Amino acid sequence: MIKEHCGVFGVKGENAVRYVYEGLKLLQHRGQESAGISFVENGRLKTVKGLGLVEEALGEGIDSNSNVGIGHVRYSTTGKTTLEEAQPLSNEVLAVAFNGTITNYFEFGNFSTDTEFILKFLNKDLEDGKSLVQTIKHFVDVADGAYSLLVLTRSGEIYSVRDPKGFRPLVLGRIGKSVVVSSEDSPIRQLGGKVIRDVYPGEVVVIKEGEVYSEVLARSEVSTCAFEYIYFSRADSVIDGISVYKARERLGEVLFERHPVDADIVVPVPDSSRPIAIGFSRRGGIPLEEALVRTLASKRSFIMPTNEKRNEVLEEKFGVVEEVINGKRVVLIDDSIVRGNTMKRLISLLRNAGAKEVHLRIGSPPIRYPCYMGIDFPRRSELVAYGKTEEDIARELEADSLGYLTVEEMIEAIGKNALCTACFTGKYPLKGKYQMERLEIAFRR
Ligand code: 5GP
Ligand code: MG
Repeated sequence: MIKEHCGVFGVKGENAVRYVYEGLKLLQHRGQESAGISFVENGRLKTVKGLGLVEEALGEGIDSNSNVGIGHVRYSTTGKTTLEEAQPLSNEVLAVAFNGTITNYFEFGNFSTDTEFILKFLNKDLEDGKSLVQTIKHFVDVADGAYSLLVLTRSGEIYSVRDPKGFRPLVLGRIGKSVVVSSEDSPIRQLGGKVIRDVYPGEVVVIKEGEVYSEVLARSEVSTCAFEYIYFSRADSVIDGISVYKARERLGEVLFERHPVDADIVVPVPDSSRPIAIGFSRRGGIPLEEALVRTLASKRSFIMPTNEKRNEVLEEKFGVVEEVINGKRVVLIDDSIVRGNTMKRLISLLRNAGAKEVHLRIGSPPIRYPCYMGIDFPRRSELVAYGKTEEDIARELEADSLGYLTVEEMIEAIGKNALCTACFTGKYPLKGKYQMERLEIAFRR
Protein backbone atom coordinates (compact mmCIF):
# COMPACT_ATOMS: atom_id res chain seq x y z
CA MET A 1 0.00 0.00 0.00
CA ILE A 2 1.02 3.52 -0.52
CA LYS A 3 1.22 5.25 2.77
CA GLU A 4 4.47 7.03 2.64
CA HIS A 5 6.68 9.90 3.47
CA CYS A 6 9.38 10.44 0.97
CA GLY A 7 12.21 12.62 -0.17
CA VAL A 8 13.38 13.39 -3.69
CA PHE A 9 16.62 14.85 -4.97
CA GLY A 10 17.66 15.56 -8.57
CA VAL A 11 20.81 16.99 -10.16
CA LYS A 12 21.71 18.07 -13.69
CA GLY A 13 25.41 18.73 -14.12
CA GLU A 14 28.81 17.41 -13.20
CA ASN A 15 29.01 14.56 -10.68
CA ALA A 16 25.23 14.36 -10.73
CA VAL A 17 24.95 10.82 -9.41
CA ARG A 18 27.35 11.49 -6.55
CA TYR A 19 25.40 14.58 -5.53
CA VAL A 20 22.10 12.74 -5.72
CA TYR A 21 23.52 10.06 -3.46
CA GLU A 22 24.78 12.65 -0.96
CA GLY A 23 21.52 14.58 -1.18
CA LEU A 24 19.48 11.48 -0.39
CA LYS A 25 21.58 10.85 2.70
CA LEU A 26 20.79 14.38 3.85
CA LEU A 27 17.09 13.68 3.28
CA GLN A 28 17.24 10.41 5.17
CA HIS A 29 14.78 11.67 7.81
CA ARG A 30 12.13 11.70 5.05
CA GLY A 31 12.49 8.01 4.31
CA GLN A 32 14.43 5.11 5.67
CA GLU A 33 12.87 2.06 4.07
CA SER A 34 14.32 2.18 0.59
CA ALA A 35 16.48 4.36 -1.63
CA GLY A 36 17.09 4.54 -5.35
CA ILE A 37 18.70 6.59 -8.11
CA SER A 38 17.95 6.81 -11.83
CA PHE A 39 20.49 8.20 -14.28
CA VAL A 40 21.36 8.09 -17.97
CA GLU A 41 24.22 6.13 -19.48
CA ASN A 42 24.86 5.81 -23.20
CA GLY A 43 21.41 7.17 -23.91
CA ARG A 44 19.73 4.63 -21.65
CA LEU A 45 17.94 5.07 -18.37
CA LYS A 46 19.34 3.06 -15.51
CA THR A 47 17.85 2.64 -12.07
CA VAL A 48 19.57 1.25 -9.00
CA LYS A 49 17.59 0.78 -5.79
CA GLY A 50 17.56 -1.21 -2.62
CA LEU A 51 15.97 -1.55 0.78
CA GLY A 52 17.00 0.24 3.94
CA LEU A 53 18.97 3.40 4.58
CA VAL A 54 20.77 5.02 1.65
CA GLU A 55 24.05 3.36 2.58
CA GLU A 56 22.39 -0.02 2.92
CA ALA A 57 20.41 0.32 -0.27
CA LEU A 58 23.10 1.82 -2.49
CA GLY A 59 26.34 0.92 -0.76
CA GLU A 60 28.98 3.60 -0.97
CA GLY A 61 27.40 5.04 -4.07
CA ILE A 62 27.04 4.39 -7.77
CA ASP A 63 30.00 4.62 -10.08
CA SER A 64 28.67 6.57 -13.03
CA ASN A 65 29.72 9.68 -14.89
CA SER A 66 26.15 10.43 -15.91
CA ASN A 67 25.56 14.17 -15.78
CA VAL A 68 21.99 13.80 -14.62
CA GLY A 69 20.18 11.85 -11.94
CA ILE A 70 17.09 11.72 -9.75
CA GLY A 71 16.79 9.89 -6.45
CA HIS A 72 14.25 8.91 -3.86
CA VAL A 73 14.08 7.80 -0.24
CA ARG A 74 10.93 6.08 0.92
CA TYR A 75 9.28 5.62 4.26
CA SER A 76 6.40 3.20 4.45
CA THR A 77 4.51 2.16 7.54
CA THR A 78 3.26 -1.22 6.49
CA GLY A 79 6.16 -2.93 8.21
CA LYS A 80 6.92 -4.70 5.00
CA THR A 81 8.61 -2.81 2.25
CA THR A 82 9.23 -4.42 -1.08
CA LEU A 83 11.68 -3.48 -3.74
CA GLU A 84 8.79 -3.23 -6.19
CA GLU A 85 7.44 -0.25 -4.29
CA ALA A 86 10.84 1.44 -4.11
CA GLN A 87 11.39 4.43 -6.36
CA PRO A 88 12.41 5.76 -8.83
CA LEU A 89 10.19 3.70 -11.08
CA SER A 90 11.40 3.61 -14.65
CA ASN A 91 10.89 2.15 -18.10
CA GLU A 92 12.95 2.79 -21.23
CA VAL A 93 11.60 6.28 -21.71
CA LEU A 94 11.08 7.85 -18.28
CA ALA A 95 11.97 7.49 -14.62
CA VAL A 96 9.70 8.97 -11.96
CA ALA A 97 10.20 9.62 -8.26
CA PHE A 98 7.75 11.47 -6.08
CA ASN A 99 6.79 12.46 -2.57
CA GLY A 100 3.10 12.34 -1.78
CA THR A 101 0.09 10.25 -2.66
CA ILE A 102 -2.17 10.35 -5.70
CA THR A 103 -5.57 9.93 -4.10
CA ASN A 104 -7.54 9.08 -7.23
CA TYR A 105 -5.15 6.82 -9.12
CA PHE A 106 -7.47 3.83 -8.76
CA GLU A 107 -10.03 5.59 -10.93
CA PHE A 108 -7.75 5.28 -13.94
CA GLY A 109 -7.31 1.53 -14.04
CA ASN A 110 -5.73 -1.29 -12.22
CA PHE A 111 -2.35 -0.04 -11.01
CA SER A 112 -0.53 -1.60 -8.14
CA THR A 113 0.76 1.77 -6.89
CA ASP A 114 0.20 5.42 -7.62
CA THR A 115 3.79 5.61 -8.85
CA GLU A 116 3.01 3.04 -11.51
CA PHE A 117 -0.02 5.12 -12.47
CA ILE A 118 2.14 8.24 -12.92
CA LEU A 119 4.72 6.45 -15.06
CA LYS A 120 2.17 4.75 -17.30
CA PHE A 121 -0.02 7.83 -17.60
CA LEU A 122 2.88 10.03 -18.71
CA ASN A 123 4.24 7.36 -21.01
CA LYS A 124 0.91 6.81 -22.75
CA ASP A 125 0.50 10.50 -23.41
CA LEU A 126 3.98 10.69 -24.84
CA GLU A 127 3.20 7.81 -27.16
CA ASP A 128 0.16 9.75 -28.29
CA GLY A 129 2.59 12.42 -29.46
CA LYS A 130 2.26 15.09 -26.78
CA SER A 131 5.28 17.00 -25.48
CA LEU A 132 6.33 16.16 -21.95
CA VAL A 133 5.14 19.53 -20.66
CA GLN A 134 1.73 18.95 -22.28
CA THR A 135 1.71 15.48 -20.83
CA ILE A 136 2.49 16.73 -17.35
CA LYS A 137 -0.18 19.39 -17.70
CA HIS A 138 -2.68 16.66 -18.56
CA PHE A 139 -1.52 14.74 -15.48
CA VAL A 140 -1.85 17.82 -13.26
CA ASP A 141 -5.38 18.38 -14.60
CA VAL A 142 -6.62 14.89 -13.77
CA ALA A 143 -4.54 13.74 -10.79
CA ASP A 144 -5.66 14.60 -7.28
CA GLY A 145 -3.66 14.49 -4.08
CA ALA A 146 -0.15 15.46 -3.16
CA TYR A 147 2.92 15.20 -5.32
CA SER A 148 6.34 16.73 -5.50
CA LEU A 149 7.44 14.86 -8.58
CA LEU A 150 10.67 14.44 -10.51
CA VAL A 151 10.61 12.99 -14.02
CA LEU A 152 13.85 12.06 -15.78
CA THR A 153 13.90 11.48 -19.54
CA ARG A 154 16.34 9.27 -21.37
CA SER A 155 17.61 12.38 -23.16
CA GLY A 156 18.75 13.65 -19.76
CA GLU A 157 16.20 16.29 -18.81
CA ILE A 158 14.59 16.65 -15.40
CA TYR A 159 11.00 17.87 -15.11
CA SER A 160 10.17 18.84 -11.56
CA VAL A 161 6.54 19.37 -10.61
CA ARG A 162 4.81 20.50 -7.45
CA ASP A 163 1.10 19.83 -7.19
CA PRO A 164 -1.22 22.87 -7.37
CA LYS A 165 -1.99 22.73 -3.65
CA GLY A 166 1.70 22.67 -2.78
CA PHE A 167 1.13 19.92 -0.22
CA ARG A 168 4.78 18.88 -0.13
CA PRO A 169 7.83 21.10 -0.39
CA LEU A 170 10.18 21.20 -3.40
CA VAL A 171 13.12 23.54 -3.81
CA LEU A 172 15.41 24.60 -6.65
CA GLY A 173 19.06 25.37 -6.20
CA ARG A 174 22.53 25.33 -7.66
CA ILE A 175 25.67 23.53 -6.65
CA GLY A 176 28.47 25.10 -8.67
CA LYS A 177 27.21 24.96 -12.24
CA SER A 178 24.82 22.11 -11.58
CA VAL A 179 21.11 22.66 -11.12
CA VAL A 180 19.55 20.86 -8.16
CA VAL A 181 16.02 20.15 -7.05
CA SER A 182 15.34 18.80 -3.58
CA SER A 183 12.49 18.06 -1.20
CA GLU A 184 14.08 20.51 1.24
CA ASP A 185 16.57 23.33 0.94
CA SER A 186 18.83 22.34 3.83
CA PRO A 187 20.68 19.59 1.88
CA ILE A 188 21.41 22.01 -0.97
CA ARG A 189 23.06 24.46 1.41
CA GLN A 190 24.85 21.67 3.21
CA LEU A 191 26.37 20.47 -0.06
CA GLY A 192 27.84 23.92 -0.59
CA GLY A 193 25.12 25.03 -3.00
CA LYS A 194 22.80 28.00 -3.20
CA VAL A 195 19.07 27.90 -2.88
CA ILE A 196 17.29 29.60 -5.77
CA ARG A 197 13.65 29.34 -4.72
CA ASP A 198 10.78 27.00 -3.95
CA VAL A 199 9.10 25.40 -6.92
CA TYR A 200 5.68 27.07 -6.93
CA PRO A 201 2.52 25.06 -6.43
CA GLY A 202 1.23 24.03 -9.85
CA GLU A 203 4.54 24.75 -11.56
CA VAL A 204 6.75 22.57 -13.70
CA VAL A 205 10.44 23.46 -13.85
CA VAL A 206 12.29 21.94 -16.79
CA ILE A 207 16.02 21.43 -16.31
CA LYS A 208 17.84 20.88 -19.58
CA GLU A 209 21.42 21.13 -20.71
CA GLY A 210 22.31 24.80 -20.24
CA GLU A 211 18.71 25.85 -19.82
CA VAL A 212 16.12 26.04 -17.06
CA TYR A 213 12.59 27.21 -17.69
CA SER A 214 9.30 26.94 -15.98
CA GLU A 215 5.61 27.11 -16.62
CA VAL A 216 2.70 27.40 -14.22
CA LEU A 217 0.33 24.63 -15.28
CA ALA A 218 -2.49 25.11 -12.80
CA ARG A 219 -3.54 27.51 -10.10
CA SER A 220 -5.34 26.60 -6.94
CA GLU A 221 -5.71 27.51 -3.33
CA VAL A 222 -2.52 26.35 -1.65
CA SER A 223 -2.65 23.97 1.32
CA THR A 224 0.80 22.94 2.38
CA CYS A 225 0.95 20.07 4.88
CA ALA A 226 1.11 21.56 8.39
CA PHE A 227 3.09 18.52 9.49
CA GLU A 228 6.03 19.51 7.33
CA TYR A 229 6.45 22.40 9.76
CA ILE A 230 5.42 20.57 12.92
CA TYR A 231 7.41 17.39 12.62
CA PHE A 232 8.50 16.14 9.28
CA SER A 233 11.01 18.54 7.71
CA ARG A 234 14.43 19.23 9.10
CA ALA A 235 14.52 22.10 11.57
CA ASP A 236 17.16 23.86 9.44
CA SER A 237 14.92 23.90 6.38
CA VAL A 238 12.88 26.80 5.09
CA ILE A 239 9.57 25.97 3.38
CA ASP A 240 7.91 28.64 1.24
CA GLY A 241 9.84 31.34 3.05
CA ILE A 242 9.11 30.13 6.59
CA SER A 243 11.89 28.72 8.75
CA VAL A 244 10.86 25.36 10.18
CA TYR A 245 12.87 26.00 13.36
CA LYS A 246 11.27 29.40 13.90
CA ALA A 247 7.81 27.99 13.25
CA ARG A 248 8.39 25.31 15.87
CA GLU A 249 9.66 27.86 18.38
CA ARG A 250 6.50 29.89 17.86
CA LEU A 251 4.36 26.77 18.26
CA GLY A 252 5.97 26.48 21.70
CA GLU A 253 5.47 30.16 22.53
CA VAL A 254 1.79 30.10 21.60
CA LEU A 255 1.43 26.83 23.47
CA PHE A 256 2.57 28.50 26.67
CA GLU A 257 0.48 31.64 26.09
CA ARG A 258 -2.74 29.70 25.54
CA HIS A 259 -2.08 26.73 27.81
CA PRO A 260 0.10 27.99 30.65
CA VAL A 261 0.99 25.76 33.58
CA ASP A 262 2.78 26.08 36.89
CA ALA A 263 5.76 23.77 36.73
CA ASP A 264 9.44 23.41 37.62
CA ILE A 265 10.96 22.17 34.36
CA VAL A 266 10.19 21.78 30.66
CA VAL A 267 11.35 18.54 29.04
CA PRO A 268 11.27 17.94 25.27
CA VAL A 269 10.77 14.56 23.65
CA PRO A 270 13.88 14.42 21.51
CA ASP A 271 14.49 15.21 18.72
CA SER A 272 11.66 16.84 16.85
CA SER A 273 10.04 18.73 19.72
CA ARG A 274 13.17 20.52 20.93
CA PRO A 275 12.51 23.89 19.25
CA ILE A 276 8.90 23.74 20.49
CA ALA A 277 10.13 23.17 24.04
CA ILE A 278 12.61 26.02 23.70
CA GLY A 279 9.81 28.40 22.72
CA PHE A 280 7.60 27.16 25.56
CA SER A 281 10.36 27.40 28.14
CA ARG A 282 11.44 30.86 27.10
CA ARG A 283 7.93 32.29 26.98
CA GLY A 284 6.96 30.66 30.29
CA GLY A 285 10.20 31.38 32.12
CA ILE A 286 10.40 27.71 33.06
CA PRO A 287 13.85 26.16 32.66
CA LEU A 288 14.41 23.62 29.90
CA GLU A 289 16.01 20.33 30.89
CA GLU A 290 17.14 17.60 28.51
CA ALA A 291 16.06 14.90 30.92
CA LEU A 292 15.04 12.45 28.23
CA VAL A 293 17.93 10.91 26.36
CA ARG A 294 17.35 9.32 23.00
CA THR A 295 19.41 6.18 22.65
CA LEU A 296 21.26 5.50 19.43
CA ALA A 297 19.99 1.94 19.47
CA SER A 298 16.50 3.25 18.91
CA LYS A 299 14.69 2.06 15.84
CA ARG A 300 11.75 3.82 14.39
CA SER A 301 8.88 2.95 16.70
CA PHE A 302 6.29 4.62 14.58
CA ILE A 303 6.59 2.26 11.65
CA MET A 304 6.59 -1.08 13.41
CA PRO A 305 3.75 -3.33 12.23
CA THR A 306 2.10 -4.18 15.56
CA ASN A 307 1.46 -2.21 18.69
CA GLU A 308 3.37 -4.77 20.74
CA LYS A 309 6.44 -4.23 18.56
CA ARG A 310 6.05 -0.45 18.68
CA ASN A 311 6.04 -0.56 22.45
CA GLU A 312 9.06 -2.85 22.55
CA VAL A 313 10.98 -0.35 20.45
CA LEU A 314 9.83 2.51 22.66
CA GLU A 315 11.34 0.73 25.65
CA GLU A 316 14.81 1.07 24.20
CA LYS A 317 14.28 4.47 22.64
CA PHE A 318 14.48 6.75 25.69
CA GLY A 319 16.51 6.93 28.84
CA VAL A 320 15.68 9.31 31.70
CA VAL A 321 17.87 11.43 33.99
CA GLU A 322 16.34 10.67 37.37
CA GLU A 323 18.42 13.30 39.16
CA VAL A 324 16.64 15.98 37.12
CA ILE A 325 13.13 14.56 37.29
CA ASN A 326 12.87 13.44 40.90
CA GLY A 327 10.45 15.59 42.92
CA LYS A 328 9.69 17.94 40.03
CA ARG A 329 6.55 19.19 38.34
CA VAL A 330 7.35 18.41 34.72
CA VAL A 331 5.95 19.84 31.47
CA LEU A 332 6.52 17.23 28.81
CA ILE A 333 6.51 18.66 25.29
CA ASP A 334 5.98 16.73 22.09
CA ASP A 335 5.21 17.83 18.57
CA SER A 336 2.23 15.50 18.19
CA ILE A 337 0.34 12.55 19.57
CA VAL A 338 -0.69 9.90 17.10
CA ARG A 339 -1.50 6.56 18.70
CA GLY A 340 -0.41 7.76 22.13
CA ASN A 341 2.24 5.08 22.59
CA THR A 342 5.11 7.52 23.07
CA MET A 343 3.27 9.58 25.65
CA LYS A 344 2.03 6.64 27.68
CA ARG A 345 5.51 5.25 27.85
CA LEU A 346 7.18 8.54 28.74
CA ILE A 347 4.67 9.51 31.40
CA SER A 348 5.24 6.24 33.20
CA LEU A 349 9.02 6.64 32.81
CA LEU A 350 8.84 10.11 34.35
CA ARG A 351 6.62 8.99 37.21
CA ASN A 352 8.93 6.08 37.97
CA ALA A 353 11.79 8.58 38.04
CA GLY A 354 9.96 10.48 40.78
CA ALA A 355 8.11 13.23 38.87
CA LYS A 356 5.57 14.90 41.15
CA GLU A 357 3.32 15.99 38.28
CA VAL A 358 3.43 15.43 34.52
CA HIS A 359 1.73 18.02 32.31
CA LEU A 360 1.58 17.38 28.57
CA ARG A 361 1.78 20.22 26.09
CA ILE A 362 1.53 19.34 22.41
CA GLY A 363 2.69 21.60 19.58
CA SER A 364 -0.20 20.69 17.28
CA PRO A 365 -3.96 20.07 17.46
CA PRO A 366 -5.35 16.59 18.21
CA ILE A 367 -4.91 14.24 15.22
CA ARG A 368 -8.36 12.76 14.69
CA TYR A 369 -8.47 11.84 11.00
CA PRO A 370 -6.34 9.84 8.61
CA CYS A 371 -4.09 11.50 6.05
CA TYR A 372 -4.35 10.59 2.37
CA MET A 373 -1.80 13.09 1.18
CA GLY A 374 1.41 11.39 2.11
CA ILE A 375 1.76 11.38 5.90
CA ASP A 376 1.39 7.91 7.29
CA PHE A 377 -1.17 8.30 10.04
CA PRO A 378 -3.06 5.11 10.75
CA ARG A 379 -6.76 4.33 10.53
CA ARG A 380 -8.89 6.50 12.79
CA SER A 381 -9.69 3.77 15.30
CA GLU A 382 -5.98 3.66 16.16
CA LEU A 383 -5.68 7.42 16.70
CA VAL A 384 -5.81 8.13 20.39
CA ALA A 385 -7.70 11.40 19.86
CA TYR A 386 -10.36 10.07 17.50
CA GLY A 387 -13.78 10.67 18.99
CA LYS A 388 -12.33 11.85 22.30
CA THR A 389 -12.25 15.13 24.15
CA GLU A 390 -8.98 16.45 25.54
CA GLU A 391 -10.12 15.44 29.04
CA ASP A 392 -10.68 11.86 27.84
CA ILE A 393 -7.25 11.80 26.26
CA ALA A 394 -5.54 13.17 29.37
CA ARG A 395 -7.24 10.48 31.44
CA GLU A 396 -6.28 7.74 29.03
CA LEU A 397 -2.64 8.88 29.00
CA GLU A 398 -2.66 9.41 32.77
CA ALA A 399 -1.41 12.98 32.48
CA ASP A 400 -2.07 15.58 35.19
CA SER A 401 -3.08 18.00 32.46
CA LEU A 402 -3.01 18.17 28.70
CA GLY A 403 -2.87 21.14 26.36
CA TYR A 404 -3.02 20.98 22.58
CA LEU A 405 -2.99 23.90 20.18
CA THR A 406 -6.18 24.71 18.33
CA VAL A 407 -6.01 24.81 14.55
CA GLU A 408 -6.20 28.62 14.67
CA GLU A 409 -3.37 28.82 17.21
CA MET A 410 -1.25 26.53 15.06
CA ILE A 411 -1.89 28.63 11.96
CA GLU A 412 -1.01 31.79 13.89
CA ALA A 413 2.22 30.20 15.13
CA ILE A 414 3.38 28.86 11.79
CA GLY A 415 2.46 32.20 10.24
CA LYS A 416 0.73 30.81 7.19
CA ASN A 417 -2.92 30.44 6.35
CA ALA A 418 -2.51 28.18 3.37
CA LEU A 419 -2.09 24.96 5.32
CA CYS A 420 -3.65 21.53 4.99
CA THR A 421 -5.26 20.70 8.34
CA ALA A 422 -7.21 17.61 7.27
CA CYS A 423 -5.76 15.32 9.96
CA PHE A 424 -7.09 17.73 12.60
CA THR A 425 -10.39 18.77 11.03
CA GLY A 426 -11.40 15.96 8.67
CA LYS A 427 -11.73 18.56 5.89
CA TYR A 428 -9.73 17.31 2.96
CA PRO A 429 -8.58 19.83 0.37
CA LEU A 430 -9.05 17.35 -2.45
CA LYS A 431 -10.96 18.06 -5.61
CA GLY A 432 -14.05 16.71 -3.96
CA LYS A 433 -15.77 14.04 -5.92
CA TYR A 434 -14.05 11.27 -4.00
CA GLN A 435 -16.26 10.11 -1.22
CA MET A 436 -14.36 9.71 2.01
CA GLU A 437 -15.63 6.14 2.28
CA ARG A 438 -13.99 5.30 -0.99
CA LEU A 439 -10.72 6.75 0.15
CA GLU A 440 -10.96 4.84 3.40
CA ILE A 441 -11.46 1.60 1.55
CA ALA A 442 -8.86 2.27 -1.11
CA PHE A 443 -6.27 3.28 1.44
CA ARG A 444 -7.43 0.89 4.16
CA ARG A 445 -7.62 3.60 6.78
P1 5GP B 1 2.55 7.98 18.99
O1 5GP B 1 3.54 7.33 19.86
O2 5GP B 1 1.57 8.86 19.67
O3 5GP B 1 1.88 6.98 18.08
O4 5GP B 1 3.35 8.91 17.96
C1 5GP B 1 3.77 10.18 18.35
C2 5GP B 1 5.23 10.34 18.14
O5 5GP B 1 5.55 10.00 16.79
C3 5GP B 1 5.69 11.75 18.36
O6 5GP B 1 6.84 11.71 19.18
C4 5GP B 1 6.03 12.30 16.99
O7 5GP B 1 7.25 13.05 17.00
C5 5GP B 1 6.20 11.09 16.15
N1 5GP B 1 5.57 11.20 14.85
C6 5GP B 1 4.56 11.97 14.47
N2 5GP B 1 4.25 11.75 13.18
C7 5GP B 1 5.11 10.84 12.75
C8 5GP B 1 5.31 10.21 11.50
O8 5GP B 1 4.60 10.46 10.54
N3 5GP B 1 6.34 9.30 11.44
C9 5GP B 1 7.12 9.00 12.51
N4 5GP B 1 8.10 8.14 12.38
N5 5GP B 1 6.95 9.58 13.70
C10 5GP B 1 5.96 10.48 13.81
MG1 MG C 1 8.85 12.32 18.33
